[in-house]
Amino acid sequence: MIATADFKITKAKTSKLSTLDVNNIPFGKYFTDHMFEANYENGEWGTGEIKPYQPITIDPSCAAIHYGQSIFEGIKAYKNQEGEAYIFRPEDNFKRFNISAERMEMPQVPEEVFMEGMKQLIKIDENWIPNQPDHSLYIRPFMFATDEVIGVKPGQKYKFMIILSPTGPYYSAPMRIYVEEKYVRAAPGGVGYTKNAGNYGASMHPTAEAKRKGYDQVLWTDAFEHKYVQECGTMNVVFIIGDKAITPPLGDTILAGVTRDSVIQLIKDRGMEVEERPLGIDEIIDAYKKGELNELFGTGTAATISMIKELRYQDFVMTFDTEKWKIAPEIARTMNAIKEGKIEDKYGWMVKV
Ligand SMILES: *Cc1c(COP(=O)(O)O)cnc(C)c1O
Repeated sequence: MIATADFKITKAKTSKLSTLDVNNIPFGKYFTDHMFEANYENGEWGTGEIKPYQPITIDPSCAAIHYGQSIFEGIKAYKNQEGEAYIFRPEDNFKRFNISAERMEMPQVPEEVFMEGMKQLIKIDENWIPNQPDHSLYIRPFMFATDEVIGVKPGQKYKFMIILSPTGPYYSAPMRIYVEEKYVRAAPGGVGYTKNAGNYGASMHPTAEAKRKGYDQVLWTDAFEHKYVQECGTMNVVFIIGDKAITPPLGDTILAGVTRDSVIQLIKDRGMEVEERPLGIDEIIDAYKKGELNELFGTGTAATISMIKELRYQDFVMTFDTEKWKIAPEIARTMNAIKEGKIEDKYGWMVKV
């Protein structure tokens, strides 16, 4: 396979950066001056290109639109206290991207393309990483089939791209969550462990229904009994019960979150036991009634940690005073301090651009 990090670079003539209101940056709304693009054809990757951010042209028969071979990743870059750009655990996202690609029968993206494309792109748009606390640069690598033919079969042509979006604090308010018992996010043998676009398409309607009932998100349960919890919206979920943290085990129904893994590490390092095991709604309710369900929160790149202030299962409503919590805010503070270079990165999570 011929893939090098010797990219073709075309700089934008002017920068849009001065039009950005750094005090008000909603998630995913603004994009930097440049983007990365590499195309796969005849079994190999062509030369990667960094060029001005612009629309792309696709044929109406574009395979990804019709049959869904489309995957993505979500990563963040930060500035440390010296103003240097660092990316949070990008190797993990790179590996996960290719796990998604394999399941979707898409080609593997070489490390030189994914990692170097990302680093070089960030370097060019480095000024777009906001300096304020809790701000970052969201990195969105994605790949989709571009074959111009209608027919259910794996594509022969693919486009891999990376775009960057500066972002302010996200999802910070504690959430009200509805335990989902009708719809399913992931079943054994399915694609729940991949970041393929269809998973999110399928989650829109259940989430919209939960919102119409007044909730922020759903807590997904297993496909067979709707009894064991899986994930909360597009976040992994952690329950602090008694003196233990419990989170559902990885497998084909759980997305292997990089934040989940980081949070597990930090919780263990503060001396608390972490159990990765099936967790049933009965056990959750039982712990709540005994006063042992201390904290529950979602974990993900976009928000890092989102506390849950209300959990509704059928007609049973569990409420929590998140103001009194200790672990979730402490873990969030530590994570953010590592990301912003305020404390030592003893895990080697931060990768210099
Ligand atoms: C992306 C994602 C997560 C969180 O993964 P991170 O690597 O922590 O961002 C969790 N669940 C789903 C379904 C996701 O798509």
